[in-house]
Amino acid sequence: MEEPAALLADIRARIAAAAKIARRDPAGIMLVAVSKTHPAERIAPLIAAGQRVFGENRVQEAEAKWPALREAHPDVALHLVGQLQSNKADEAVRLFDCIHSLDRPSLVSALARAMDKAGRQVPAFVQVNIGAEEQKGGCAIADLPALLAGARDAGIPLAGLMCVPPAGIEPAPFFALLGKLADDNGLAGLSMGMSDDFETAITLGATHVRVGSALFGARPAAAPKWGEVTKGWRPEGT
Ligand SMILES: *Cc1c(COP(=O)(O)O)cnc(C)c1O
Repeated sequence: MEEPAALLADIRARIAAAAKIARRDPAGIMLVAVSKTHPAERIAPLIAAGQRVFGENRVQEAEAKWPALREAHPDVALHLVGQLQSNKADEAVRLFDCIHSLDRPSLVSALARAMDKAGRQVPAFVQVNIGAEEQKGGCAIADLPALLAGARDAGIPLAGLMCVPPAGIEPAPFFALLGKLADDNGLAGLSMGMSDDFETAITLGATHVRVGSALFGARPAAAPKWGEVTKGWRPEGT
């Protein structure tokens, strides 16, 4: 495994190179280091190397890992990049400095209530289901104007739009579409691009790239469930 500081320097250099191609200032691109599944011992070296913004995708995991790290490094910011259940809104507002997954009216209400209660405004990206995929998080494109209006009415500070394009196809058209939707709706922030495609996202306007495995190495794969292994399989002759 390469040194975290070397991996970080490499990602930063790639961000700068993509920004140069796009005639953009690299200072306008925030690297969110997605540390989900990786323990505090793997995160600390990146903090030591100067990384200041991290992302987690589960409230419970962040609650277990981050309070001690945050106490030791009060200038580190923590972003929620994964789906959020409404009943975890209070915890999310307490723990995170930015939420990338606002995607439905019930969550608008839950977050607005949680922010009032905590006396803390947490900026949110509205996640768009950019490839209109079934069972994927994110609001449908057709529902976006109403959701944005609802969030604005509720007083949630809007950071911009976020997407995770469909797997296995060229992501550029989806990044371009998210950029157009942000323009159409007067939003400046674009949270798009992960380990495999952040350079493409930057050339298409990403302001926040969410990079996990390219910084931390591959995540430990969950063992497949027995039913998934045997699905559709029949012993010969039966
Ligand atoms: C895990 C995750 C990432 C990082 O993915 P990598 O491919 O490991 O860079 C980015 N965004 C979201 C929403 C994620 O869940």
